[in-house]
Amino acid sequence: MKFFFAFLFIAIEFAQNPIEKSYLLGRFDPSSDARFIQLSSAYAQGSALNGFLRKETFEAFQKMADDAKKDGVNLFIISATRNFDSQKKIWKNKWIGKTKAKITGEDLSKISDLKARARQILLYSAMPGASRHHWGTDIDLNSFEDNYFSSGEGLKIYQWLAAHAGDFGFCQPYTAKVNGRTGCEEEKWHWSYLPLSKIFLNEYLKQISYSDIEGFEGSETASDLEIISTYVNGVACR
Ligand SMILES: [Zn+2]
Repeated sequence: MKFFFAFLFIAIEFAQNPIEKSYLLGRFDPSSDARFIQLSSAYAQGSALNGFLRKETFEAFQKMADDAKKDGVNLFIISATRNFDSQKKIWKNKWIGKTKAKITGEDLSKISDLKARARQILLYSAMPGASRHHWGTDIDLNSFEDNYFSSGEGLKIYQWLAAHAGDFGFCQPYTAKVNGRTGCEEEKWHWSYLPLSKIFLNEYLKQISYSDIEGFEGSETASDLEIISTYVNGVACR
């Protein structure tokens, strides 16, 4: 019930202003988009310091972080909105081997089968044009290491999020791959503001086709790898 009105108001707003394709694909600049707000330093660290989020997302996050603090849990954002261009940089650096693979440290540029190479990147990074970080609704919190969240301080943070994030509209889309969830591996750091992201996911599935996912090295594998049905739609909350 708590989010019924938030969902209702947002649904009415989008019924009046259908969301643009370029937005869903991240082909815009959040720093010059009036729907976005710059993160304040009290709530962000590292590259997220100068980052942006949808106003609704950041307001909900601030409430959540303030509440968490009362329970001795310090939440901060380490990555916020990444548009097509910034996701393209992340993708390309893995594609050409400049950034080594997460966990294995492998140089993925050595994999000559392009689909196999893309599949390795996709374990933890979305294709440009197919990332929830494009939408200003998704945030990475505290640490990019799943291990961090399995003991001590990190475990306390994760347990707090699992118990309370839903009260603020946030959910973990990339859970352990049980119950048939497809797509990327579990990410305990990645949280999504569902009142907005559920709308964008629905619109994405309606409006975007494989010909829209283009403009970067490896994009020709998107269709064969079923990026939309397997990865974009491979989420635990919708
Ligand atoms: Zn993320």
